[in-house]
Amino acid sequence: MNCKHCGRPIEGTVHIEGGYRGKQRCDPADSGLSYGYNAEPEGDDCQDPCLGAPNS
Ligand SMILES: [Zn+2]
Ligand SMILES: [Zn+2]
Repeated sequence: MNCKHCGRPIEGTVHIEGGYRGKQRCDPADSGLSYGYNAEPEGDDCQDPCLGAPNS
């Protein structure tokens, strides 16, 4: 499955490709977002500590 923020493939909660492979955080160069978003599958709500989570 792919990360909903950056589009990179993820396994569980970590990215498995790209410069941030092995990390939970998304590479801002891929996501176009500020640093702080986490690997999350399409259709899932953002979970703390992802910046997209409502209360983070
Ligand atoms: Zn990502
Ligand atoms: Zn998120």
